[in-house]
Amino acid sequence: MSQTALASIVRGVASMDISQDDIKPKPFIPTHKPTNSQGSGSTSHNRQASVSKLLTKYAKPNPFQPAPSNQSNAVRLALASNTHQTQQTAPPSPVKVTVTKLFGDEIDIGKYDGGFEAESAEGRGEFVHGEAAKALALDSSQAPRPTSSWHLSQFDIGRPLGKGKFGRVYMVRTKSEPKYILALKCLYKSEIIQSKVEKQIRREIEIQQNLRHPHVLRLYGYFHDEKRIFLMLEFAGKGELYKQLSKYGKFSDKRSSRYIAQMADALAYLHSKHVIHRDIKPENLLLGINGELKIGDFGWSVHAPGNRRKTLCGTLDYLPPEMVEGKEHTEKVDHWALGVLTFEFLCGVPPFEDLRGYNATYKKISKVEFQIPDHVSAEAKDLIKKLLQHDPEKRMPLSEVASHPWIVKYKKDRPSSQ
Ligand code: AMP
Repeated sequence: MSQTALASIVRGVASMDISQDDIKPKPFIPTHKPTNSQGSGSTSHNRQASVSKLLTKYAKPNPFQPAPSNQSNAVRLALASNTHQTQQTAPPSPVKVTVTKLFGDEIDIGKYDGGFEAESAEGRGEFVHGEAAKALALDSSQAPRPTSSWHLSQFDIGRPLGKGKFGRVYMVRTKSEPKYILALKCLYKSEIIQSKVEKQIRREIEIQQNLRHPHVLRLYGYFHDEKRIFLMLEFAGKGELYKQLSKYGKFSDKRSSRYIAQMADALAYLHSKHVIHRDIKPENLLLGINGELKIGDFGWSVHAPGNRRKTLCGTLDYLPPEMVEGKEHTEKVDHWALGVLTFEFLCGVPPFEDLRGYNATYKKISKVEFQIPDHVSAEAKDLIKKLLQHDPEKRMPLSEVASHPWIVKYKKDRPSSQ
């Protein structure tokens, strides 16, 4: 993709409002994310230009503004999903939201590898019937707050971006004007049913489509056919953060501080909506076209208690003491994970990792037993220690993270959009 072409056709769009919908999670324990992502696009993602121009506006919330009828589908889609409030009790305060939309014919979306047809020829996915089929007939044009109706034929499909547990993710462009660039994620219904995660997927979609924050990956809409569900996601141009961490081993103070500031901002937003993420880890973070962090996976942000035992087979590394001990937990689990993330960004490994296995990690977490290497600055150490507190109530509030000296120190070097 030509860097100048990309830079010249990117437009920033704001005029966003923040949903006040109450999304109340249930207790839950997360599991390890499937590791079969191929991320085939991330190298070329990394070559993309940082975008030169963003038009940023301060949102004036107007929750009841209807989508103008003369707008194209894609614009209506975005507007409809931005005007989701129907049950507000108090007017929200203006929140600065920068949303970058990519559009235009000039953006090279890459070559489609025929993956969907190949899977269909291989017989992947089965028709689903009865209640399960009803439960997974997910279409945002039929949702309580509808967007436009979509179908696979309305997209030009480009290069594969990765493979998830339930299907592939492709870079796509809407055929109708304006031609938006999106990531289209396919989920096979029969595989969702086999894994018994129908409710979880529904909940994930429900949560993510109501969130609007510059560091939370947007879900613009979704549609389905007989075998698959398709999610229309914000395109995270620089791919997976995890890949960057693997590539560089660890991050500099400046880069880590920037990411942690963005995470703290996003988490404060989620908590204000009563959403607890509960699965913050590098594998769940993507990078936008400006290298800005995007929380990209809400698969475990709400979870029925019945799935607890099954999910405990995942990694423990990011779980706080109260969760590994099976106690009640609150949004403070995300504060703990932020401490783990800060450590991992700066050191390349999570603080409680123990190669002897599950039990050893469990004990370390429970006793909050970790050592911060000498190369970590005193300021970063201070933040890590204040987040990794056994008592959830003693963990540093997110507002204080934002004003912590290690965050503030690097803030002045930062462009305002990041
Ligand atoms: P997932 O099923 O969410 O694990 O996605 C599989 C892989 O596809 C990820 O590991 C990413 O490399 C890629 N991917 C998923 N969503 C996006 C997105 N919105 N933008 C860019 N790449 C993505």
